[in-house]
Amino acid sequence: MSAPAKTARSLDDLVAVGAVPRTTAEGPTLRAVSERYAVAVTPAVLASMRSTDPASDPVARQYIPTAEEATTAPEELGDPIGDHAFSPVKGIVHRYSDRVLLKALHACPVYCRFCFRREQVGPGGEALDGAELARALDYIRTHEAVWEVILTGGDPLMLAPRRLVEIVAALDAIPHVGVIRLHSRVPVADPSRVTAELVAALRSVRAAVYVALHCNHAQELAAEARSALRLMSDSGIPLLSQTVLLRGVNDDAATLEALFRALVQARVKPYYLHHPDLARGTGHFRLSIAEGQALMRALRGRVSGLCQPTYVLDIPGGHGKVPVGPCYVDLPKEQVTDPNGGTHLYPPPAKDCA
Ligand SMILES: *Cc1c(COP(=O)(O)O)cnc(C)c1O
Ligand code: SF4
Repeated sequence: MSAPAKTARSLDDLVAVGAVPRTTAEGPTLRAVSERYAVAVTPAVLASMRSTDPASDPVARQYIPTAEEATTAPEELGDPIGDHAFSPVKGIVHRYSDRVLLKALHACPVYCRFCFRREQVGPGGEALDGAELARALDYIRTHEAVWEVILTGGDPLMLAPRRLVEIVAALDAIPHVGVIRLHSRVPVADPSRVTAELVAALRSVRAAVYVALHCNHAQELAAEARSALRLMSDSGIPLLSQTVLLRGVNDDAATLEALFRALVQARVKPYYLHHPDLARGTGHFRLSIAEGQALMRALRGRVSGLCQPTYVLDIPGGHGKVPVGPCYVDLPKEQVTDPNGGTHLYPPPAKDCA
């Protein structure tokens, strides 16, 4: 695709840039879907698609709305990971004692069709105003157990550098905050935003600043995206990645292998592979945990440990994230499985060894 100048923000914009055929856009279902769930496709993302057909391109499938999103399964939820119940003040989610989410804004550079917060993010979702941000920072200041603050949203790298400077400085000044982590899709979705000024805005004095990139396919790591990541890692920011396991995007071992190798080579450590959440209208992206485990097992023997993320599920209802295997140990049988599937005995320590 040749890149247009600005972000497509509606079905009509997508038709205008040739990403959705006019005849497809005429169906009432697709129109309803694209009005219900926000649409945004940046020029960089459009340029990384080999085809704009969501059925045949792993990047198009993540961003181009389809009529399948009109189907809501009974188990799907508006707030699939239960953020709401753990929000003591606006913009804060405090589920684990040592860390909080700080959601300063609800805008993203792109809107992913499988987003777990798709009913909270979007152009209509408001950012925290000055007083709300001050209250959120006060909450962190007065909760000394909070060691890590995770800026998410929305995408914190959509904030203007001058606002990021204020937030990073305020957090850096809180003695018990040791880590400031930013979750972002900007380096792959809109790499031109990653300027020297933006990277300088992430500079801290005391707390460590980490960036966790959301990236689901090696095709998203085009030259501009890799340069954006290099700018951040060259300035000393440790980079992690989060990948959502998605049917039709990255649900085969070769695709995941290529992605994790490309990330590690871009100095990004794969952190989590997320089992897809039960967000409304996303059933066509979901696979079973058994399928996810089989993929992780396939990766174990064939790629470096550096390339292995932890496969996690965020338990619906706000019960937290847990690794979901696969497990190589069978304690009752006192047995472990090797990467090739062979089994071996491993006895427990003798009870009278003291
Ligand atoms: C995912 C999440 C975190 C971060 O969890 P890690 O396992 O530390 O990456 C923190 N708070 C909430 C509410 C979360 O959903
Ligand atoms: S970037 Fe993240 S929060 Fe924004 S739409 Fe995509 S998955 Fe949702």
